[in-house]
Amino acid sequence: MKPPAFDIDLDKHYKATMVMVCEQCGHEVRQHLQSLHPDAELSCECGSHISVSPLILQQAAQRVQQIKQSYHLS
Ligand SMILES: [Zn+2]
Repeated sequence: MKPPAFDIDLDKHYKATMVMVCEQCGHEVRQHLQSLHPDAELSCECGSHISVSPLILQQAAQRVQQIKQSYHLS
């Protein structure tokens, strides 16, 4: 199974939001990265669940670092 696609949004306070796309309905499900834990599940409004693997969380954290570096924040 290929890992679900995700995106990272940083708000003006540089808080990271994980944006994942529901495979069932294509809806974007957003969750603050800080409140995610390994093997968490996001619930889409269509009723399906999107699992967040530790690997995804790791990739997300790396993405946040890259974005911050591109903003010269770190
Ligand atoms: Zn959905």
